Amino acid sequence: MTPEIIDLLFPNVLPTPEEIEARYPARQLPEGAVVSRLAPSPTGYLHIGNFYQGFLAERLAHQNKGVFFLRVEDTDQKRRVDGAVQVVLKALAHYHVLPDEGAQEDGSDKGSYGPYTQSLRKDIYQAYAKELVKKGLAYPCFCTSEDLDLMRKVQEKQGLRTGYYGKYAKCRDLSDEEVLANLKAGKPWILRFKSNGDYDKRLVFEDLLKGKLSLPENNIDHVIIKGDGLPTYHFAHVVDDHLMKTTHVVRGEEWVPSVPLHLQLFALMGWTPPKYAHHALLQKLDNGKRRKISKRYDPEANIEYFAEHGYPQTAVLDYLQNLMNANFEEWRKTNPLAPTFDFPVNFSKISNTAGALFDFVKLHSICREVIANMTAEEVYNNTLTWAEKFNVPLADLMKANPDKVKAILNIERGIGTKSRKDLMKWEDVENEVSYFFTKPALDSENLKPLSMDEVRTLASEYANMYSVADDKDAWFGKIKELAVKFGFADNMKEYKANPDNYKGSVADVARILRVLMTGRTQSPDLFAIMQVMGVGEVKKRLTEI
Ligand code: GLU
Repeated sequence: MTPEIIDLLFPNVLPTPEEIEARYPARQLPEGAVVSRLAPSPTGYLHIGNFYQGFLAERLAHQNKGVFFLRVEDTDQKRRVDGAVQVVLKALAHYHVLPDEGAQEDGSDKGSYGPYTQSLRKDIYQAYAKELVKKGLAYPCFCTSEDLDLMRKVQEKQGLRTGYYGKYAKCRDLSDEEVLANLKAGKPWILRFKSNGDYDKRLVFEDLLKGKLSLPENNIDHVIIKGDGLPTYHFAHVVDDHLMKTTHVVRGEEWVPSVPLHLQLFALMGWTPPKYAHHALLQKLDNGKRRKISKRYDPEANIEYFAEHGYPQTAVLDYLQNLMNANFEEWRKTNPLAPTFDFPVNFSKISNTAGALFDFVKLHSICREVIANMTAEEVYNNTLTWAEKFNVPLADLMKANPDKVKAILNIERGIGTKSRKDLMKWEDVENEVSYFFTKPALDSENLKPLSMDEVRTLASEYANMYSVADDKDAWFGKIKELAVKFGFADNMKEYKANPDNYKGSVADVARILRVLMTGRTQSPDLFAIMQVMGVGEVKKRLTEI
């Protein structure tokens, strides 16, 4: 194309490719170091699948003496949401998946391979695009959306593959005069690259997760620069990952069909492509059918969901590693308390044929284990950190009664005893703590077979017997005594042998007392609950019914 056309296409002063290259020198890293990245589009939301890809990329880099960076892919300005970068950074920080470089919360950059926000790199993409035009490898396309719709319809009618290729690539062969006239007439344009691919030939490449893949070459003249002057994802990916020296791209498998195009663009630019690891999307079972986890239907598609509900970070990371890595469970058994980050990720062990199925039951069982392995102090601290953000009344209550709450959390916890497994997330703590502070409402159903009056008599009798100095045996001895006095068998076997002789067994009396103390029929160890509650409160609950 003539210099006049090139000036009309790129009126701004742009750096030369040599100047740009000089700003991005080779990274000084040990042999074999991995440079990887998370490259979210700032839409105000981090999908759990993208989070996992970031986690994988981070592990890959940090297990291999490399660099993990965050790049903000905001070339689609219409989808851009203010504060979205903060959302991503917050989620990453919450799980300690920490980028070494990239866009920061305050809009600044950390690292010397930036800017790490694509909209700030416009000149760079334009400079390379200009170079392609100069070499005759890219051209402006003036087709309107109506032209393109018509083209698609014609192709569909003839049963052809749709797209801007071959004889349908109408602007590919415009003469310089036609281009000039269009530009002078102010016709809107976008820039396409001239594909030299042959759709009938196959391109074979090795994906780190999917193994050898064979796809048709790309013969479509894809758009590289859009109407607003910003690049498409494809061109930005190639330019940025080249300049930022990315060695490994971990991304969603929806990009697999674009690999021939990306490899073609790398070759066209004369650059070495990175290695690709395309990760299958997470799925879930919906009425027996598999479908991908979607923002629209599943609140858990948003990684923030887990922080909001107080899932322990370790449990979420463990769960994701467990879901994706066939060898994680085994590793966890041998290293029960090691940080999830110590698990050596091995691509060949990542299950990736179909999307892994997200399963709350498994996640919850991991959560229970993780919390069961914590001290009361750790549970207290984690819950408080969570509550200060998401449940302020609970945080206030905890801060006003730290020793008591720790004592509550210490019930059935600890070395030697089988630790309680009722807590799955910090959100659940309120329910386990609240009844110690607020006398629960009573449901007469749970006090059967006694009437309310009978319960009052039994409870006041027990109030006279209860002593905080009793050990567990003496405590239970008194409950048995109480049971016999009120017509219950003092053991289950006796009751089962002669049910007509009794109102029930000692277990029913214990249940009635449990309900009076906690408002519920199931709770951790009642003896311990009463000890923590204190004699004053216990007697109050027995006498003020
Ligand atoms: N912005 C792209 C996405 O969100 C990133 C893909 C990539 O990692 O290259 O899908």
